[in-house]
Amino acid sequence: MSLLVVGSVAYDSIETPSAKRDDVLGGSATFFSYAASFFTDVRLVAVIGEDFLEADLDRLRQRRVDLTGLVREPGESFRWGGRYHDNMNERTTLFTYLNVFQSFKPVLPPSYRATPLVFLANIDPALQLDVLDQIESPELVACDTMNFWIDGKRDELLELLARIDVLVVNEEEALDLSGAHYVAGAGRAIQELGPRTVIIKRGEYGAVLFSDQDIFFVHGYPVEDLTDPTGAGDTFAGGFMGYLARTRDFSARNMRVATVVGSLMASFVVEGFSLEGLYNVDMQKIHERYRDFVAHTQFDPLKL
Ligand code: AMP
Repeated sequence: MSLLVVGSVAYDSIETPSAKRDDVLGGSATFFSYAASFFTDVRLVAVIGEDFLEADLDRLRQRRVDLTGLVREPGESFRWGGRYHDNMNERTTLFTYLNVFQSFKPVLPPSYRATPLVFLANIDPALQLDVLDQIESPELVACDTMNFWIDGKRDELLELLARIDVLVVNEEEALDLSGAHYVAGAGRAIQELGPRTVIIKRGEYGAVLFSDQDIFFVHGYPVEDLTDPTGAGDTFAGGFMGYLARTRDFSARNMRVATVVGSLMASFVVEGFSLEGLYNVDMQKIHERYRDFVAHTQFDPLKL
């Protein structure tokens, strides 16, 4: 089952407590499509500027990501900068330069219009809505967002939420969006806004899935070398949606497995800067972590 993503393709500047990298490959759609490509074929919609290097696009071409919907416009590419705090779970955005995204009007190539699965990655909710309007009766639509849009484009975001099936957000964003003070309250409150399924990501502590009445807790896979958490959320979403696309099963039971797959994919990307942690991943490594994950979470429910 094909999967379409609209989001940013960007250059990021990252500071962690021990290192600094400027203008590395990033963007919500980049991380998402790379991770999802292990499970299904991915169609990407985004805009880049004249400065974007072909060598960086080759990374996505090597994963057979369909770039028909990626347009190059005059001007500079989207740029984002972030600094991680000592605990690496919190970060401060240093800058967000929309550049070519400022005037972007996505037009879906005809070959994309009947895509059954859609992920509206973190980007202006007005653009997410634009893309959604151009898809012919999708089977499942998921979306991500961030504080920048929750605070800046709340009305458009609420309009979008009423039309989607799954929202994937981090804890801080979920609290901000819902006005709740704790995760369980936030999940249920966001379900009331539209999406039947809500996933709240919690960094190294994993994620919580609210699917209809079901609630499921996933921990983060314990990585030995946490290098750069950037893109973990998008990579999580790529694993989650990629797995759903491959299995074509949107039941609450299968959403649980998809959440585990998302968590595993995110564990690879944080082991390197930019997308480096994903470059050596293959299905065998994914299966190994999956087996580990089952072992880490299984226990005999002995009588209390
Ligand atoms: P994550 O760490 O999963 O939240 O994703 C970080 C990625 O999102 C970076 O590669 C950024 O380029 C991209 N990003 C950051 N802010 C925005 C924004 N306002 N709109 C779109 N993409 C963004």
